Amino acid sequence: MIIILALIGLLVGGVVNRLADQLPQRRSLLKAGACASCGRPYDWGGFFAVAAFPLRRGRCPACAAPLPLRPILVEIALILLFPFLWQQNGWTLLFVAESLYASIFVLISAVDFEHRRILNVVIYPSTALALLASLLRIGHDTRLAGVVGGFVGFVFFFFVFLLGELLMRMLRRSSGGPALGAGDVKLAAFIGLVAGWPGVIPALILGILLGGLGALVVLVVQVTRRTYKPLTSALPYGPFLAAGGLAMVLWGEKIVRWWLRT
Ligand SMILES: [Zn+2]
Repeated sequence: MIIILALIGLLVGGVVNRLADQLPQRRSLLKAGACASCGRPYDWGGFFAVAAFPLRRGRCPACAAPLPLRPILVEIALILLFPFLWQQNGWTLLFVAESLYASIFVLISAVDFEHRRILNVVIYPSTALALLASLLRIGHDTRLAGVVGGFVGFVFFFFVFLLGELLMRMLRRSSGGPALGAGDVKLAAFIGLVAGWPGVIPALILGILLGGLGALVVLVVQVTRRTYKPLTSALPYGPFLAAGGLAMVLWGEKIVRWWLRT
């Protein structure tokens, strides 16, 4: 059964890669993504990167440009996530919901890393799905837990967003853009719906801490390479927030228990 779930993870990974290739460019989902350097469309290898990557030694068969690493990372992540979630939940609606959430977090991270954007076409349906699930009490004990979590996530990040805009204006920095985008506010609301109350608090704290850690790593690399650029333009925040949300999907109960004790 683990093998079957890993295969489902691989298939969903292919779907996530297709969405990450095509949605930001507004291209047809029925067509495969294409090599960024020569434009040759990916064949099956675009869908099963774990097989294609080693077979083609990491290079495009037409122009020998290095293949991107993201498709293979996405597939490996979902090949691991699906069996893990199934072992926790069995064949339940909760398993369906959590594997969807995990896939969405992976998709949002991939697109935000590559394009610095959180797409409305992804985040709105995801939020509607999480809202429906929480009203059906899938993943939450009460009908209100998800809604309250989503509201807290939205309000909290909305104020962080406003504060960031205000600071930028005071510093009169027109370049660099805001530290936190409007997409991050929507993402925080989605994470809140998924994590519920009180899980939304440790989820967002975890995301903020991971983001800070990531920013520190980038800063150290930039300083050692002497290529300092404003951090705000160097790092998208979404993947770190999504990682916090994913941690709640994987270990939610443990994290909440630990959070309530401290
Ligand atoms: Zn190529």
